[in-house]
Amino acid sequence: MEFSEFAERVADVEQETADLEITSLVAALLVDADDELPVVVRFLLGRIVPAWDPTTLDVGPQLCHEALARAAGPNVTDDDVADRLAEAGEIGAVAESLDLGGQRGLAAFGDDGTDSLTVAEVNERLRAVANADGAGSRDRKIEELFGLFTRADPVGARYLARIVLDEMRIGVGEGTVRDAVAEAFDVPVGTVERALQVTNDHGAVAARARNEGTAGLNDVTLTLGRPVGAMLAQTGTAAAAVESWGTVAVETKFDGARVQVHHDPDGETAVFSRNMESVTDALPEVVEFVDREVDVPAIIDGEVIAVDDDGDPRPFQAVLRRFRRKHDIERMREVVAVELRAFDCLHTDGTDLLDDPLLDRRDRLTSILGTGVSPLTLTDDPEEIAAAEAAALDAGHEGIMLKNPGSAYTPGDRGQNWLKRKPDVETLDLVVTGAEWGEGRRANHLGSFLLSARVDDGGDAFATIGKVATGITDERLAELTERFDPLISSEEGSDVEIDPEVVLEVGYEEIQRSPTYESGYALRFPRFITVREDKSPRDADSLGRVERLVGDDDNDGTGA
Ligand code: AMP
Repeated sequence: MEFSEFAERVADVEQETADLEITSLVAALLVDADDELPVVVRFLLGRIVPAWDPTTLDVGPQLCHEALARAAGPNVTDDDVADRLAEAGEIGAVAESLDLGGQRGLAAFGDDGTDSLTVAEVNERLRAVANADGAGSRDRKIEELFGLFTRADPVGARYLARIVLDEMRIGVGEGTVRDAVAEAFDVPVGTVERALQVTNDHGAVAARARNEGTAGLNDVTLTLGRPVGAMLAQTGTAAAAVESWGTVAVETKFDGARVQVHHDPDGETAVFSRNMESVTDALPEVVEFVDREVDVPAIIDGEVIAVDDDGDPRPFQAVLRRFRRKHDIERMREVVAVELRAFDCLHTDGTDLLDDPLLDRRDRLTSILGTGVSPLTLTDDPEEIAAAEAAALDAGHEGIMLKNPGSAYTPGDRGQNWLKRKPDVETLDLVVTGAEWGEGRRANHLGSFLLSARVDDGGDAFATIGKVATGITDERLAELTERFDPLISSEEGSDVEIDPEVVLEVGYEEIQRSPTYESGYALRFPRFITVREDKSPRDADSLGRVERLVGDDDNDGTGA
């Protein structure tokens, strides 16, 4: 395809505002692209290489302005180009406005002796620009770009300049390309989406859709050394997780940086960031660790955290000092030690695991990696989830992740199967008015505490609103038992009444209307945060505040 034709069609796309029309125009362009389909797709997205490939043109605005100025003839300087840019606001309009044909000398002819510029040739030349490095590379890059700009027609120059400076901006995103591929080659959108997730190569997926159809797309596999998008999480509550999945896989949420480790026992181990850039050189410990532990080809997903001498986590900022570091790596290794906490496995020994359930992938992970796998708790008990969270926070981690044990790995997708437990937005300061003796190991301690809010601001009447038992360590329970013992006013079975004197700060996921407690409300997943030593029961939160939090302004306060 002539580059000028490509440019004209792209101009039509850019003019169009209706999404469906844009998709159809792109689909028609893909159908006509023939052998150049992969390149056309990349150019539409403003790329010269697939998303997994870190290669860049390494051309800044100044270099591009110089190439344009040269192609525009002796009367135009790179400062003139910069001035025009300041006025026009985008490089495409500037390139289009220059008389780039004025310099049509020898450089105006391609290798075949004609001046026609094809999409394939633009691709080749841009590759040469990208590959130029070392001494004299700047001049070689300018020379190549000069040659291209000289041979481009005005509309071609518009899009060429935009591709060069990574400013395509024609309203065609990855979603448009996905839909257009499906429309052009009559394959299901979901199949295209999935092949894109697995390969990160829009050009190759388009070609496969055309040449091999749905079956071909279904056959795509992961490739060691080519990163795929990390599966992402939404925020959610433990309540929602238990309701949706029954059993929940609870993992520690580490406060570090996401990595995808590609390990090839016969080749190299590469470590990629969440943006799919290589961070291999910055993290030699991770490479050494995986090389030592794993003896099959594997793709491992996890988090790199900074640790102190005892192996305890250090704050996120510490990891940042290591993560993308290019210099002084050995010295920094002494200052900030990092470790891998692996939590998923996408591929082992020739088999892609993306479609396997989380628990099976975790089994594979544990079988290939002796240590360094983040622990996982499987439970349907909200108390246990809260206890896991308390333990994670106690150990200095960020919190917990809730995952659907049966879910597949969907690269790059922020779906419903991984949830970051929502942090408490607001906490409540509530008075302890009762408690219950524990059982078994905790029989000598009070095990859960009945919480009450003040009925009126400044008043002495209290209404119960929930019980808190989680988030309290054994040591803290012993302390609290000692504290409450003298305040016990009556006992019946394991239940005790307690004089209202102590205020606890409590977190929760939700406040619900409920007939269970006197207030007419109940806290969902209440968690002990701390004893408010600075507060007396008169300073505790009132039902008025609870109502405001629930958004029940029309309530009369009795909960009725
Ligand atoms: P956020 O960055 O707040 O969107 O939280 C999601 C991030 O948490 C992921 O991208 C990971 O980098 C990180 N993370 C820490 N621990 C885990 C885990 N066990 N499972 C998944 N992601 C985790």
